[in-house]
Amino acid sequence: MKRELAGAARDLAAYLKAQDENLAEPPRGAAPARTRPPVPVAAAAAPEAANTQMTKPPADMDALAQQVSKCRKCGLGHARLNAVFGVGSPKARVVFVGEGPGFQEDHKGEPFVGRSGQLLDKILETVLGLKRSDVYIANIVKCHPMKNPETPEAHGNDRPPTPEEISACRPYLDEQLRAIRPACIVTLGSVATKVLLGVDKGISTVRGRSYDYPVELFGPGHPIKVIPTYHPAALLRNPNLKRDTWEDMKMLKSFLETGKI
Ligand code: SF4
Repeated sequence: MKRELAGAARDLAAYLKAQDENLAEPPRGAAPARTRPPVPVAAAAAPEAANTQMTKPPADMDALAQQVSKCRKCGLGHARLNAVFGVGSPKARVVFVGEGPGFQEDHKGEPFVGRSGQLLDKILETVLGLKRSDVYIANIVKCHPMKNPETPEAHGNDRPPTPEEISACRPYLDEQLRAIRPACIVTLGSVATKVLLGVDKGISTVRGRSYDYPVELFGPGHPIKVIPTYHPAALLRNPNLKRDTWEDMKMLKSFLETGKI
């Protein structure tokens, strides 16, 4: 087992190096022109199109996805191109949660695409032996938070969601978790970790151990475990964080294999 894990760590390190050398952000000019739909017909269609290779979600997830595609509960709903509901298996044992969609996610209607998403896929494969379709991936907010919604094609326009946006959107995530009934949530980065654990500490302080999800979705005695770790974008910026991420994923792997943590 140790040799297998060491091999996967090497694979991950090599991948991070290749990411730094080879994977450039696609030119912004190559992106399709953004239109803000007054009636979100395109927004409803895109996430389903992105999900075609995944297991079909149950009816209540379908209904929820439809609801999200039409949602305008907060200001993000007026600037987005696509609502980004979630992707993966509706029977996943683990759900990965980030803070919100970025530029590419908004265009594709799928969470964690682009460089961060490719790295997340690589971590799933090399460390956990899983594919994207074996887990579920979602965000706290379903629409792209932009610094300036008037310049949606601008580079570096992403920002973290505000507390008001988070509280407007958070019920959708808990509905997704109720439908999926995962054993474990992996929070990716500080924002998702603070929101889901209700703590006011940075990810480097909180990671390294597991927690019980503080919301009782299935009644007493049925806790969902939470394992916080770094956001893949942080690993791309600072490959030194890969060792800690690796340890967190080892903890997840052991939990998925033994049911103990
Ligand atoms: S971010 Fe969430 S609450 Fe706000 S409009 Fe989008 S789906 Fe609705």
